[in-house]
Amino acid sequence: MTNLFDVAIIGSGPAGASAAYHLANSGLKTVLIEKEKLPRYKTCGGGFVYRGLRDLPFSVEEVIDAEFNEVEIFFGKKLAFKTKREKPIISMVMRDRFDHLIVKKAEDLGVKILQETKVEDLNFEDDYTEILTSTGSIKAKFIIAADGALSPTAKLTGWEESRMMCPALEYEVTVPTSDFERLSKSVRFDIDVSPNGYGWCFPKKNHLSIGVGNFLKTKKKANLKEDYKKYLTTLGISTILEEEAHGFIIPISPRKEGFVKRNVFLIGDAAGFADPITAEGISNAIASGVLVAKAIAESKMNLREAKILYQQKLEERILPELEVGKKLSKLFYGQPTLRNLLLQKYGQRAAEYMTHIFMGDRTYPKDFYKKVKQKINLPFFN
Ligand SMILES: Cc1cc2nc3c(=O)[nH]c(=O)nc-3n(C[C@H](O)[C@H](O)[C@H](O)COP(=O)(O)OP(=O)(O)OC[C@H]3O[C@@H](n4cnc5c(N)ncnc54)[C@H](O)[C@@H]3O)c2cc1C
Repeated sequence: MTNLFDVAIIGSGPAGASAAYHLANSGLKTVLIEKEKLPRYKTCGGGFVYRGLRDLPFSVEEVIDAEFNEVEIFFGKKLAFKTKREKPIISMVMRDRFDHLIVKKAEDLGVKILQETKVEDLNFEDDYTEILTSTGSIKAKFIIAADGALSPTAKLTGWEESRMMCPALEYEVTVPTSDFERLSKSVRFDIDVSPNGYGWCFPKKNHLSIGVGNFLKTKKKANLKEDYKKYLTTLGISTILEEEAHGFIIPISPRKEGFVKRNVFLIGDAAGFADPITAEGISNAIASGVLVAKAIAESKMNLREAKILYQQKLEERILPELEVGKKLSKLFYGQPTLRNLLLQKYGQRAAEYMTHIFMGDRTYPKDFYKKVKQKINLPFFN
């Protein structure tokens, strides 16, 4: 059977492309299936934190628009913090070029790339699965679902929806030169610009990526378009030369039913691995791609063993952080008055801690909410 692969990966974002790279590096016959023509646009701020950069086994310098060693975080007009590192805390990328570079690196190692090929159905057989696509059928022993927030593959395999989905709007904005010069010197986050969320202003090569998102579910319906307009005023932007609007969802909590069913492994947004506070998803997409590839390679293609290894690796690297982050997010967005009181005293320390997480030096403090709870009675932590 010539079209039988060891592993078929569905989706060529950072999760799928990095899994493909590492599987091919381990000598496994791998196919990467993508419904779009590559390179494809992806709705994203394109803020790539250092820990993600560190996890890539090759340089991506050629697709980095700008690097920032400083980050500014504003909480309204009265509270602001700045952190600084020797290495770039956040690098700015446009996702079409960035994702495509990882795909090309995987292709160089022998991964077969099927673009403009949409996965439509799966037939599970005993020793392999037949993947029915818009351009024909493929067979694979293992399947990795890296098909993003909507993950049709997870649905086809039988997962119920259990991730928390958050809406976010992102605009590619061209502003007059004077505004661009003023705003392109730093990366900024403006917390509470949108209720239960934040706004970001990320400078790209010749334009700004400005966005707003809500990262905690409430009964109140968000009006992200209005929040974006207000945010432009906060940024001092009154003239827009060009503007392209994109909206999408970010899954910011992991699936409750686990990450492997039958021979299908979930990674990246399909699994729900974006950070619950920042909604930063590229670095964990890459990390989960690495972990699943290692699990499959180390198992020597033994499905039972690969499932166990993947779960173990997730428990070591990704899941504890997401669990703590989810709880912290309830304080961060759900209790702004209390949060700001705490920040007045501990704000710089908290900003430094967040930067450590971006750099990959630390994870969220496991005992943080226990300590806070001891000091003040916070029912929502229970
Ligand atoms: C507005 C917004 C702003 C964001 N800003 C940032 C940010 O600044 N920094 C950050 O780290 N994260 C950010 N994120 C989150 C980040 O974009 C995601 O976490 C990340 O893209 C997840 O990568 P992935 O590889 O899992 O999925 P994706 O990048 O979504 O890739 C999934 C791929 O699967 C393909 N696919 C889907 N269905 C099929 C099918 N049936 N057949 C074949 N292919 C299919 C898609 O075309 C796509 O190419 C943002 C998200 C949004 C919505």
